[in-house]
Amino acid sequence: MSAAGGESLAAIFRRLIASTGPISLMHYMGEANARYYASRDPLGSAGDFVTAPEISQMFGELIGLWLADMWINAGREETVHYVELGPGRGTLARDALRAAKRYGLEPSIHLVEASTALRDVQLATVPGAQWHHDLSTIPAYGPVLVVANEFLDALPVRQLVKTPDGWRERMVVPDGDRFVCVAGPQPMDPAVPESRRDAPEGTIYELCPGAAATVYEVAGRLKEQGGAALFIDYGHDVPGDGSTLQAVRAHLKVDPFVNPGEADLTAHVDFAALAPIAQSRGVRWIGTAPQGRWLRELGIEARAAALAQAAPEHAAALHAAKDRLIGEGQMGLLFKVMGLAAPNWPGGAGFVG
Ligand code: SAH
Repeated sequence: MSAAGGESLAAIFRRLIASTGPISLMHYMGEANARYYASRDPLGSAGDFVTAPEISQMFGELIGLWLADMWINAGREETVHYVELGPGRGTLARDALRAAKRYGLEPSIHLVEASTALRDVQLATVPGAQWHHDLSTIPAYGPVLVVANEFLDALPVRQLVKTPDGWRERMVVPDGDRFVCVAGPQPMDPAVPESRRDAPEGTIYELCPGAAATVYEVAGRLKEQGGAALFIDYGHDVPGDGSTLQAVRAHLKVDPFVNPGEADLTAHVDFAALAPIAQSRGVRWIGTAPQGRWLRELGIEARAAALAQAAPEHAAALHAAKDRLIGEGQMGLLFKVMGLAAPNWPGGAGFVG
């Protein structure tokens, strides 16, 4: 039985695999996360993991200022939309929109959220928002200001493995109390870029079709309607091999192949693969910067000092939160910020050198 009652996803997978054969890892991860997010609010110290907007209001505020700066420099179009993908508790949207409002930016608010449990939380945090299942129903006129923090990492990855017989899809089967990966029967060589095909046996090639499709679609909107986008996530900006799939529950890393649907499954975002996808649609890739450097460029240190001066009793906590967001051994280096803008939109703060 799962925590929410009803049949566990592990039991459903076992039955499915027994009747129709192994399922792909992508299917496994997609269903596990759909179940996981639908049934709970996983964020915060009482949940499974903590994200940047939940660490400090400074994170969302600086994003709001970045968006306002872009919008002002682009000519302050009146019809403009804030679009957030996977808004969690709505904390980032609330902080960003409050900061943006001080500069005259008051966009219509569109939240793309699959989880009904989290929608209920967002309803209270972000009054006046409209909800969407995906990007297709976002208004088609007026610039879009798109934000996605720790959204792409939750989308299911596909993994291909090099076997003595060539590349195969990684499939999932039960093994005692847990699940394991095995190589599928179909040849998958054409799905691996030619430059990587000669890799040694056992090499895993991971890709995220959902992340690619999301960036493709957002870039299309930027090109057509104007606007800018920030994708923030943990990941790499140089291509790499190997599985980055991991599971987190109650702030601890756990086995992704035990109790699917009961832990948050994520994979590193391959930013190196995403920038060219955006560029292929004629959109400007402003850069992919480490989160720590980007937040420092936007003035997080001055903001922390100002907040600490206004509330000295919170000074220690404010500085600790800032260090968590920008510290090299914390979120500062592993997390990246990728900025995109419509071709005729201006610069973009924070993306130096
Ligand atoms: N951005 C928030 C939450 C990150 S958790 C923060 O930084 O705190 C991931 C978010 O993406 C959750 O809101 C989850 O419900 C949502 N999500 C995951 N997969 C999704 C999908 N396929 N479609 C829409 N939302 C999804």
